[in-house]
This record gives sequence, structure tokens and C-alpha cells, in this order.
Amino acid sequence: MMTSFVAKTIWAFLAVGWYAIRRPHERRARKTPVRHSARDRREWMLLAISFAGLGILPFLYVATGFPISADYPFRPLQGWFGAAVALAALTMFYLTHRALGRNWSISLDVRETHKLVTDGVYARVRHPMYAAFWLWALAQALLLPNWIAGLSGLVGFGTLYAFRVGREEKLMMDAFGNEYRAYMARTARLVPRLR
Ligand code: SAH
Repeated sequence: MMTSFVAKTIWAFLAVGWYAIRRPHERRARKTPVRHSARDRREWMLLAISFAGLGILPFLYVATGFPISADYPFRPLQGWFGAAVALAALTMFYLTHRALGRNWSISLDVRETHKLVTDGVYARVRHPMYAAFWLWALAQALLLPNWIAGLSGLVGFGTLYAFRVGREEKLMMDAFGNEYRAYMARTARLVPRLR
């Protein structure tokens, strides 16, 4: 049965699954030399905003019910949709980490041995991992019946996405030149183009 308790528990499983997928990559990333990095204070701010919206605020809500005054009535159908989107988010997150391998990083880095990945989940969209984050934020909005904790993921990740994606593409163009330009010409950012 889908209750608000079950929906909050699903959010918690989503967070644990997310971490389990990411952790081995974080370890590997530390051992993979960086050739060029565009990390700066602005990047760290964006990461903090995104983490607050997708992690801290919803965790506080699931753990304590705060801020209770922003609650609205839970609807089971909304919870079921949230569960389905959460599953899609985890699947996508897993596939993108597997495809990027050592080229992954939490911020904007180009590795010594960086390879441009253009196949699998990267064949038709340039930012499938960010698509997975959008799905997480959407799942959170559906699973948590609270205007603040539910919507904070969309706002937090939305901020990171809006300020980062253009810079990341510029970084990739600088690193890969025409190879990336050709890749841009045949792909979309998040949602595959109709053919
Ligand atoms: N924006 C991508 C990757 C996010 S991880 C996505 O949403 O799927 C961020 C790191 O990935 C950056 O350091 C960048 O250098 C690297 N990156 C981005 N696109 C890449 C690609 N197609 N192939 C290899 N590395 C890529």
C-alpha cells in the first residue's frame, strides 16, 4: 500500500542507491590524474546549492517532518508515479556512470587520458547524467508531499544545471574541438531529438 511513510522510505532508498552507485567512482576519480580543471568557487557554490536541495532539505523532512507547515495531503497515485520515476533515475544514473568510467568527475575536469564518450546512453543526448538528476528531482517532488522539501530538488539541481551546462560544453569544445562540435550537431542536451 502506498502511504506517505512508504513514499518517504522510497526517497531514502533512492538516496542510498545513488550513493552506492557513485561511491566507487569517487574513489577511482581520486586516482585518475587531471589535465585541466575548471573548478572554481562558483562551481563549489553550485554543488552546495544542489546538495542542499536534493539531499539536506529532503533528508531533514524525511527524518523529522520539518517543515510541517508546508505539508499538503498525500495522494497514493502521486506516490506511485514517484516510485516509477525514482527507478528510472537510478537506472539512468547507473548506466551513465558505467559509460563515463574514468572520465567522470563531480565537477568540471578534463583527465590526462580523457576520452569523449559518444555511445550507449551518450549516443543521442550529451547530458544523460544530468537527465538522471532531473529524474531524481522529479521523483522527490512526487514522493514528498511537502512544498519545500518536495520542490527543493528541482530548484537546487535546476540552479546547478542552468549555470553549469554551458560552461561544461565550452570546456569539452576546448578539449575535443571538432570532435565535440560534431557530437553536438547530432545530439540534444537532455531529451533525444525525434528522427
Ligand atoms: N554532463 C554529462 C557528464 C557529467 S559528469 C552528463 O550529464 O552525462 C561531468 C564531467 O564529465 C566533466 O568533468 C566533463 O569533463 C565530463 N564529460 C562530459 N561529457 C562527456 C563526454 N561525452 N565524454 C567524456 N566526458 C564527458
